Amino acid sequence: MKEIKIEKCPFCGGEEFIESNVSSMSSGVCVATNGTTQRAILFATVCRDCGSVVRFFCKTPENLYPKKERRE
Ligand SMILES: [Zn+2]
Repeated sequence: MKEIKIEKCPFCGGEEFIESNVSSMSSGVCVATNGTTQRAILFATVCRDCGSVVRFFCKTPENLYPKKERRE
C-alpha cells in the first residue's frame, strides 16, 4: 500500500492530523466479489485544527480486492 503524506489541511492550512477509526459508525467498506463480501475497516484522517475529515482510507485494501486479481 502506498504511503500518503498529508502536509496541510486543504480547508484551514492546519498541519496536525489525527488518525481515527470510524468503523464504529459503520461496518467499514464492503466489496462484493463472486458472491462473497470482503470488508475493510475504515479510517479517517481528521484535521486537529478545524476537525475536517481530510481523507477516508482503509489500511487493508488488499482485503477488499486481491492485488493480483485487480481489474485492468
Ligand atoms: Zn483544518
